[in-house]
Amino acid sequence: MRSRSSAGGFPLIWDAVVVGAGPAGATTALLLARAGASVLLLDRARFPRDKPCSEYLSPATTDVLERLGEGLLGAVERTTHAELYGMKVVAPGGTAMVGRFRGASRPYSLAVPRTSFDAILVAAAARAGAEVCERVTVENVVSERGTVAGVVGRSGNGKRGTYPSRIVVGADGLRSVVARRLGLVRHSPPHRVAFTTHVADVAGVDQVGELHVSERGYVGLGPVGGGITTVALVLPLRVVRRSGRDYRTEFFKELDRFPGLAGRFDPRRQVREVLATGPFAQWARAAAVPGALLVGDAADFFDPFTGQGIHTALRGAELAAECLIPGLAPGGNATTPLQSYERARRRAFRGKWLLERLIGLGVGSPALTDRVVARLARRPDLADLVVSATGNIVPTRDVLAPSVLARMLW
Ligand SMILES: Cc1cc2nc3c(=O)[nH]c(=O)nc-3n(C[C@H](O)[C@H](O)[C@H](O)COP(=O)(O)OP(=O)(O)OC[C@H]3O[C@@H](n4cnc5c(N)ncnc54)[C@H](O)[C@@H]3O)c2cc1C
Repeated sequence: MRSRSSAGGFPLIWDAVVVGAGPAGATTALLLARAGASVLLLDRARFPRDKPCSEYLSPATTDVLERLGEGLLGAVERTTHAELYGMKVVAPGGTAMVGRFRGASRPYSLAVPRTSFDAILVAAAARAGAEVCERVTVENVVSERGTVAGVVGRSGNGKRGTYPSRIVVGADGLRSVVARRLGLVRHSPPHRVAFTTHVADVAGVDQVGELHVSERGYVGLGPVGGGITTVALVLPLRVVRRSGRDYRTEFFKELDRFPGLAGRFDPRRQVREVLATGPFAQWARAAAVPGALLVGDAADFFDPFTGQGIHTALRGAELAAECLIPGLAPGGNATTPLQSYERARRRAFRGKWLLERLIGLGVGSPALTDRVVARLARRPDLADLVVSATGNIVPTRDVLAPSVLARMLW
């Protein structure tokens, strides 16, 4: 592993170049570096940086942070954050249900601004021995005899450089350059886009996340500590295109169309610009090819409604590291463990993929959402079960059982 050093201290060939230092990339870099690999972690941004997100860490994320060590959980708990004890969903017709997290080691999730959360992970990767290079935008991958062998990046001063490596990890998010250059990207409905911001002193914010669904789209909101609420407006791409409106400037006007939100925001208390992202859904037809693999949103991102992306990024990083570490050992073949990565992802995420698709597509139908929310409002045990499954703390099969699905509909 690190034995390949050149005289200047940097290896001639890195064991791993990780593209993107969000939760997926920083965690993969941390785990590989801790195992003794030489790791270069590249990001086009300078940290701390913002990321369009509702900034809720599903309760199971706490367990991953604890497993990762490095004092990560403590660092997150010491930073400004909020604790969320469940989720409230308001249907288009106005009916509301609340589900509480049940069965977790702690009955709450943490909600943390991405500026601090992601910076904590990047710092931990650096402490574990990864070389972190900010303001390097990766533009392409380099291949040798059909195997990915490095990346080409442009640094802040405009200089291009090649970074050779035994393995490239594409953790560069929704618009992954690595996935695109490898020809792996596929798109699928529902084709939504999101606008997010931070607002201070929002009326009626409690210790649960809120999801307000309308005929047009939905809004997710929740406290992230310090009196700040993170607000995400998610709309179908066709609505945004047809309207010709700029939802970054008309953000609050759109929120007022949701009955459960009207009048709760003072636009003068907006404390961060509106960030836009999308469209989703997007996925890679393979998460691993010879010499490269994809982690986090670069591998797949369906829809933010269930708020599972950060957990998936961290868990995916654990799976990637488990599969890569044996191959990166001296004499190992870095390209062979890739099949096992695909299998591990299927085992870990199959249930989650199905649940997030059922829910993500379901909220596109106002009549169905009204029906299911009304059933769950009358059956708190079922509401807790669904919310806990989206929090990754009860197995998805408990919700996907036909008898349970039937109780939600009839
Ligand atoms: C509106 C919205 C709300 C959401 N809310 C939640 C939520 O509440 N909870 C939750 O768990 N998930 C949520 N998600 C999902 C979550 O934000 C993502 O799943 C998560 O950020 C994925 O992490 P990642 O590391 O894969 O990608 P990212 O966090 O996107 O990180 C990718 C990194 O790659 C870098 N990068 C990109 N391109 C390049 C390049 N060419 N060269 C170098 N660097 C590059 C970027 O600068 C970035 O730092 C939400 C998503 C959206 C859109």
